[in-house]
Amino acid sequence: MSLRPAERAALLLWLCAARKLDPDCCSSDDQATRNLVDAALSCIDNGAKTAAVDVVADDDISPYLLRIADALCSLGQNKPDRPIELAAAEALLRQIADFVGDFDGESSITGERGRTASGILELAGIIEARIRILIDPTNRLIREIPSIFYVTAFSESPQELAPFRMNGGTNISCSPRVVTLVFKFEGITSLDLWHLAYTLHHELVCHTFQGAFGGNGLRNAHASSHWTEGWMDTVARDLVLEWLKHGEAPINWLPLRGDAAEAAVWSFHNSRYEAPIGLKKDQILSRSRAREACRALSDILSACGMASSVDEAKELSRKFSLSVNSHAHADFKRLDSLGANLRVALLNRVREEIAVEAARACLAFISHKDLTKLEADVSSIAQG
Ligand SMILES: [Zn+2]
Repeated sequence: MSLRPAERAALLLWLCAARKLDPDCCSSDDQATRNLVDAALSCIDNGAKTAAVDVVADDDISPYLLRIADALCSLGQNKPDRPIELAAAEALLRQIADFVGDFDGESSITGERGRTASGILELAGIIEARIRILIDPTNRLIREIPSIFYVTAFSESPQELAPFRMNGGTNISCSPRVVTLVFKFEGITSLDLWHLAYTLHHELVCHTFQGAFGGNGLRNAHASSHWTEGWMDTVARDLVLEWLKHGEAPINWLPLRGDAAEAAVWSFHNSRYEAPIGLKKDQILSRSRAREACRALSDILSACGMASSVDEAKELSRKFSLSVNSHAHADFKRLDSLGANLRVALLNRVREEIAVEAARACLAFISHKDLTKLEADVSSIAQG
């Protein structure tokens, strides 16, 4: 369900708290500082709750956020060491109050106005730009295609999201393609922001750009698609982890770093392979095997000297995956058949030469880009 004005105000406040006031990211262990940060958090929490009464229309949001910003401003005003977290949260609220009244200030990088109006579009735009360049480094073909809309929604069954606070979904059967982010708003922390970053990577890498070089109106991949939810999800996970480890993720959105952030990414990723809702046992196994095969490709490229380093092997493997997934004739059913043969070949532990041949066929695809040839090559390799 789309956001009502009061829900939108509450989400903006909770996101602000997660980005700027999370005790896990506090700049100081000093008790006085922590007390002030706690007081600021309570102020935002109360504000998010009372928005249900005070915010009736979209026009109410901006003045309401400014009121909370003023309240934050008065906290610790006379103290010489006012925590930087307070100033940062206040500044962010004032900045958000500016753009909520002006929808034109919020736009996707394709120039279309997103419908999320939750501020998340900024993070989505950063990730979308990252994926577009990875798929098309020359930035010629898909700079504006496909056009993507982002929608933020409030979960009416938050128990379905548990133990997390969010999930995503993508529809590529329409134009523009639509990415929907579903939340349980209350209590969002900096840890949940990594789940948001993961979800955006997953939706874009696995779904939104599937068949991106082709036309519109594609079939949406089923949850049982092991290529989409296993192989490509592994590509998405690695991208998030590299973003974190290389320090490239925007600190303004993702203040939590180090082991805690890495653990957040892993727990979200692993949950998709442990007991995903609605999947049968054999479908879960296929998803896990697809993840294993994706990893095997870069291992083989590296071990057999087809790449000069581990990093280059990972890059080639990613290039192959993104290239196949975004191919003009890509369709999840077709990719699942290809993925099934790739699994058989790349995970062949008895006849290693079969795995190496399959890796060579993947490498060749990066140059010839002929999906039919790749399918035929991998099928005949898999049959031995
Ligand atoms: Zn998915």
